[in-house]
Amino acid sequence: MTKTLKGIAASDGIAIAPAYLLVEPDLSFSKSSIADVEAEVARYNDAIKTSTAEVEKIHDIAKESLGDEEAQVFEAHLMILNDPEFTGAIENEIKDSKINAEAALDETAKKFIAIFEGMTDNPYMQERAADVRDVSKRIMAHLLGKELPNPASIDHEVIVVAHDLTPSDTAQLNKKYVQGFVTDIGGRTAHSAIMARSLELPAVVGTDSITKDVKNGDMLIADGLDGDAIIDPSDAQVADYKQKSEAFLKQKAEWAKLKNEPSVTADGKKFIIAANIGTPNDMPGVKDNGAEAIGLYRTEFLYMDSSDFPTEEAQFDAYKEVIEGMNGKQTIIRTCDIGGDKHLDYWDLPEEMNPFLGVRAIRLSMQYKDIFRTQLIALLRASAYGPLGIMFPMIGTLAELREAKQILAEEKDKLAKEGVKIGDDLQVGMMIEVPAAAVLADQFAKEVDFFSIGTNDLIQYTMAADRGNDNVSYLYQPYNPSVLRLIKHTIDGAHENGIWCGMCGEAAGDNTMFPILLSMGLDEYSMSATSILRIRSLMKKLNTADIKELANEACYVSETAEDNEKLVNNLMKKLNK
Ligand code: PEP
Ligand code: MG
Repeated sequence: MTKTLKGIAASDGIAIAPAYLLVEPDLSFSKSSIADVEAEVARYNDAIKTSTAEVEKIHDIAKESLGDEEAQVFEAHLMILNDPEFTGAIENEIKDSKINAEAALDETAKKFIAIFEGMTDNPYMQERAADVRDVSKRIMAHLLGKELPNPASIDHEVIVVAHDLTPSDTAQLNKKYVQGFVTDIGGRTAHSAIMARSLELPAVVGTDSITKDVKNGDMLIADGLDGDAIIDPSDAQVADYKQKSEAFLKQKAEWAKLKNEPSVTADGKKFIIAANIGTPNDMPGVKDNGAEAIGLYRTEFLYMDSSDFPTEEAQFDAYKEVIEGMNGKQTIIRTCDIGGDKHLDYWDLPEEMNPFLGVRAIRLSMQYKDIFRTQLIALLRASAYGPLGIMFPMIGTLAELREAKQILAEEKDKLAKEGVKIGDDLQVGMMIEVPAAAVLADQFAKEVDFFSIGTNDLIQYTMAADRGNDNVSYLYQPYNPSVLRLIKHTIDGAHENGIWCGMCGEAAGDNTMFPILLSMGLDEYSMSATSILRIRSLMKKLNTADIKELANEACYVSETAEDNEKLVNNLMKKLNK
């Protein structure tokens, strides 16, 4: 039966394909005594055999489609499955304790995991704990007759359905076949949504219940333009959506003609449209969409994609690759923003009641200065390869900014004394995403080279509405006059003090927000690469004289977010006449 779920349009485009559920089954079991030991051992050996065959298959597909590095993890899994010390210990446990295979597996695996985790002086062996955990999960699934998702082995076109998607989930997906994402949770600024956009895959997030409503193989439409997920669509719906998809692709082809054009208004005023990226792998999208700069490189993905803190050298390589890839155009790299909804398995941080209001971003960097300094050194070294802006996230007080700048200056001095080359074109800036900083923008502007407004957080902190919580999404209002006043105040504070102001929150690429921001005189608009050409095309239609009064009206006449939506809609209707 056809069912339509309303979610949030997170990444443009339409996908039509069978669903692939990336959801772990319930692997709970009860411990029991067994009478027939032989039969239990045979059942266990069957599970080992099936698991081995399955991992061999996944390994081969992963090697072919994802490459040697991604396939390596499965080689480690095969080694464990073939290791008599591990498999034999489980068999002995079944025989000696006369317990079911599930319990024997669970108890033995826990012992092995504890041993590996205890090898604190050998990080390589410590990492094997994760492999034992994964392999045990697979054997357990076979014992219980459940199916584990195997994203690396996808070999046909699918739409991935998940509760949420982490960077490591996406790293395992075979991009050749994955046509789109649909998730239960998340908003436009959730990391799953950001990743979908950088992969240029249609995505619908925050449907609440897609993982419960859809089964593996059910036909699915993901409409990333309007935020609908349609399960088991009728033939007529499939035909309609194919048409909608074609119209969208035609529109995209029109926008593509602007790839090498500058970003100018109808009256010839020039602005910068930049790209947000998460890793150097996003660079092809930056080029294909004609970005004029990188306005935000979110470095936390470097930390999240790795099993330990990235070394200075690994960071330097990644930053240099991006800076060099920009061929003289500016790259703004943000220091690590871990905390809030971003966690690292290897960074054991205390639980917090309100993580978004807790030790996040620059606050964490200030508590772990060695980690911060390593990143700054890598950034300073990379600055020799092209124009770089170093940007601090979540600054709320002048004291925080001054301390961060002081540490940067110390590292710069040390490197200079060692004769290390540092770029001449290095700027230091801060994100404006805490309302306190927006209010004091004029004072902050005296101490940095630029601002970049992070609306994803600025809105959540201004409206006191968690950016990822569907239940308060009605309060997450980019067009609310309160938010707009803070943005205008920030831009004015920057300009009055002679610095430039950009925006790297999602609002920069929003069609309704854009004319208002242009009217405020925002200098740089940084967005998902796939939004760039749409916004460049919109900019070409706008004349700055026509929108001169828009900012004041939006901030001081309008009373609600809806007033502002109407205001911009009416203006666009008039201009399109
Ligand atoms: C923001 O808050 O607007 C921003 C760009 O940062 P992030 O989405 O990474 O928090
Ligand atoms: Mg932010």
